[in-house]
Amino acid sequence: MTAEEIQKLNQEIHSCQKCPLGATRTNAVPGQGNLNAKVMFIGEAPGATEDAQGIPFCGKAGGVLDELLAIAGLKREEIFIGNILKCRPPNNRNPQEIEIKTCTPYLDRQIELIKPSVLCCLGNFSTGYIMKKFSLGAKVQGITKIHGKIFLSDVAYGKIKIMPLFHPAVVTYDMSKKSVLAEDFRLLKNIPK
Ligand code: URA
Repeated sequence: MTAEEIQKLNQEIHSCQKCPLGATRTNAVPGQGNLNAKVMFIGEAPGATEDAQGIPFCGKAGGVLDELLAIAGLKREEIFIGNILKCRPPNNRNPQEIEIKTCTPYLDRQIELIKPSVLCCLGNFSTGYIMKKFSLGAKVQGITKIHGKIFLSDVAYGKIKIMPLFHPAVVTYDMSKKSVLAEDFRLLKNIPK
């Protein structure tokens, strides 16, 4: 994939006004990382820090994610991190159906360009969208039930592994989830990529 293609996509995202979040964001957050990544993480939407800096997972949840990446033996430079929504919903409210529908063509293009072999879905919104996109809608359950499992789907370039995970932000209000996440990231470490 060429850097120009992703640059063009990033420009479109930065100037996007397709939904009302374009009016309230400070910065759109297209995503960041290696364009040849084997592993791609997909979060929900930028929070306040990400909105201020234009970088995904650079706030509190990002600190948790960095610790977990170390457990999985992954560096930010070798993965790609994106989100379902590229702009922050006011007060970090949940993404709305219409926003997901409007924004996810950008994520679809990122996935098409990067062609990851493992897609890690952080939280329920990401898991729901990705599993439906890859014809696994019938297997979607709440993240408490399906975190740490691997789902396989066919893509033009082979098979893709989809792994639902708790969203790292959960640790900021429920410390007990830290060991659950750590266990799942240890599993991720051993998955062939
Ligand atoms: N939470 C997300 O889902 N994405 C970010 O980029 C930051 C926090």
